[in-house]
Amino acid sequence: MGERTDSYPEIRKSVRALCEQFPGSYWRELDRERAYPKAFVDALTRAGFLSALIPEEFGGSGLPLSAAAAILEEVQAQGGNGAACHAQMYMMGTLLRHGSAAQKQKYLPEIAAGKLRLQAFGVTEPTSGTDTLNIATSAKRDGADYIVNGQKIWTSRAEHSDLMLLLARTTPKEQVKKRSEGLSVFLVDMREALGKGLSVRPIRTMMNHATTEVFIENLRVPAESLIGEEGQGFRYILSGMNAERILIAAECVGDAKWFIGKASAYAKERSVFARPIGQNQGVQFPIAKAYAQMRAAELMVTEAASRYERGEDCGEEANLAKLLAADASWAAADMCVQTHGGFGFAEEYDIERKFRETRLYQVAPVSTNLILSYLAEHVLGLPRSY
Ligand SMILES: Cc1cc2nc3c(=O)[nH]c(=O)nc-3n(C[C@H](O)[C@H](O)[C@H](O)COP(=O)(O)OP(=O)(O)OC[C@H]3O[C@@H](n4cnc5c(N)ncnc54)[C@H](O)[C@@H]3O)c2cc1C
Repeated sequence: MGERTDSYPEIRKSVRALCEQFPGSYWRELDRERAYPKAFVDALTRAGFLSALIPEEFGGSGLPLSAAAAILEEVQAQGGNGAACHAQMYMMGTLLRHGSAAQKQKYLPEIAAGKLRLQAFGVTEPTSGTDTLNIATSAKRDGADYIVNGQKIWTSRAEHSDLMLLLARTTPKEQVKKRSEGLSVFLVDMREALGKGLSVRPIRTMMNHATTEVFIENLRVPAESLIGEEGQGFRYILSGMNAERILIAAECVGDAKWFIGKASAYAKERSVFARPIGQNQGVQFPIAKAYAQMRAAELMVTEAASRYERGEDCGEEANLAKLLAADASWAAADMCVQTHGGFGFAEEYDIERKFRETRLYQVAPVSTNLILSYLAEHVLGLPRSY
């Protein structure tokens, strides 16, 4: 698509080569069975891509966020689905920035070596939804442990992870000055917790996403699992959310590229009324428009990642990137179905699968409305709406 030089050309080339081993037929079969892409995730891990952000001293490649963004974008642009494993990248910041030296030493080398999977992120709960400060899961100190009780929902990849980053309330809301205080983050070793207070139940969704409900009953978690200071967890989660938004936005840009590539190729080759359908402006304009939207989103992802890497505040740019990129991928998905006519609905074209997969990003990890609320309140100074 175009003659531009993309960032990290060597990394992209290697990701493309890896993705070639996992063609549409691989993803279609898993989609049908709702099965986890283990072979793909193992291959990405072995190639070192999932430890891109882990510092070299711990066995990773110590690359900046923009490299991780390039990796995930490329997976999507090749027709794959990085959602099976992207969390390891976006949760890494919480561990790197707020974890203790002992925690980093204990976990990072094993994660980098592919022996431990850090893929589950337990924030959302059934009763509080988007209102994260209202979560009911509690952790109470009891000697050398915390005792955790509660429930999480939409905890993706919990069945395919060894570790879970868990947000719980350590001080009841009534006892804190601000609701954002009194929440804490724990790095739970799920291998020890399963069957001893932690249970996981898969949720079947419209796309293959390995998401689950997690039930927590009197689970004992060693106090060493606490990340950073007790009560400061919301701050840690928020600081990680910018990275998450930038990486998901990069995935959406990759999706948009895939849809645009597919649609352009088909519009050139499909002939109706004795000419390629792409000769009709009614067909080519939506493709061109999707391309323009994708490019604008791509620039914002680059801008957000640069600010993040310079250590500057990037809340506005990360949110803009996520909003623009999720809209661009969704618009491109819709355009791609339309361009393919009836074939857009046929499983073997992969379009309907990618269409379902990219729809998620209007809702998760943060819904479009909440981004608009952020922009209205924090960027434009409008009154808080909730
Ligand atoms: C497939 C999938 C995977 C997920 N993976 C994870 C995961 O790994 N870990 C995790 O913690 N969470 C995960 N989530 C949860 C996801 O982050 C939430 O679904 C999302 O944040 C929305 O929360 P909710 O579903 O509770 O919706 P609600 O909070 O119930 O909101 C419903 C609708 O109302 C709108 N709304 C609510 N309040 C307002 C307001 N004040 N102003 C305007 N609009 C509002 C929302 O935008 C949304 O459209 C996942 C979700 C899905 C579907």
